[in-house]
Amino acid sequence: MSVKAENVTRYYGRQKALDEVSFQVREGEVVAFLGPNGAGKSTMMKIIACYLPQSSGKVSVCGHDVNTHPLKVKRQVGYLPENNPLYADMYVEEYLGFVAGVYGLGRKRKMRVEEMIELTGLTPEYRKTIGTLSRGYRQRVGLAQALIHDPKVLILDEPTSGLDPNQLTEMRRLIREIGKKKTVILSTHIMQEVEAVCNRVVIISHGRIMADAPTSEVRLLNKASRIIWAEFDKEVDAERIKEIEGVLDVVKEPPAGYRIFTRTTRDIRPDIFRFAVENNCVLLTLEQQEESLEEVFRQITIKPETGDI
Ligand code: ADP
Ligand code: MG
Repeated sequence: MSVKAENVTRYYGRQKALDEVSFQVREGEVVAFLGPNGAGKSTMMKIIACYLPQSSGKVSVCGHDVNTHPLKVKRQVGYLPENNPLYADMYVEEYLGFVAGVYGLGRKRKMRVEEMIELTGLTPEYRKTIGTLSRGYRQRVGLAQALIHDPKVLILDEPTSGLDPNQLTEMRRLIREIGKKKTVILSTHIMQEVEAVCNRVVIISHGRIMADAPTSEVRLLNKASRIIWAEFDKEVDAERIKEIEGVLDVVKEPPAGYRIFTRTTRDIRPDIFRFAVENNCVLLTLEQQEESLEEVFRQITIKPETGDI
């Protein structure tokens, strides 16, 4: 097992940022931590990379415990932190040489730097200072420094945030390429990113794992479900809406709005219309909504049998 987390909890003061998180990543997998801001993704990544201790629980990388063997772990882990802090005044080549030195690469240093410049597509820019690079190229420098000691596991915290569409495509391609040879954990809050790059997705929300599934399953789940927003001229019985075939859950938004979660490939809007007629009320709004990530979470975590979360 490349990465193994068992019941990991982390507090910041009294705030619980991670709550009994357990998951495993096998060698060669490309896994996404998907979750909204504040979910605990960065915290989990820092713990794996030995930058932050957990409050309780156990984490190991390639069989080495992060608490008892941090140096062995660091040798196996490449880490690209969120916001990619780099030395703006250093030249690309100089910076990578510096990082290689920190890892004690010795004689291999120059060769490794050249290889990384080539691999990450930095060749046209490597004689510039980091501060003058575009965000896309700066992310490549971040990737190059994470890879320089040839780690088995790569931890990439929001590697595509702030990139323009071209840079984004290029960065995803690079990660896919690197993922053929390494175990990768990346964090994102974009569903499409998961679909473009990862085999598996671990969904995190409020410090807890909400789902852990192959990307293909999450995609199916996502497509097979819809959210309908219906607004009536007066209150109706939400329990009666739940009786409509395919409806999983109904959330009332006063005065008489209803967010209707459905898991069906059938369009249930005609049923809602009939429901209004049968209940002698007027349907003021009826629309199918774009799914935000929060809503996808909600659906993923609804139990199909009961509609409960
Ligand atoms: P994510 O990366 O998913 O956005 P984080 O791991 O950064 O989430 O944060 C999880 C929670 O922990 C958030 O509520 C955040 O405010 C809190 N948090 C993160 N880092 C610190 C810190 N250094 N001190 C205090 N609270 C923190
Ligand atoms: Mg984060």
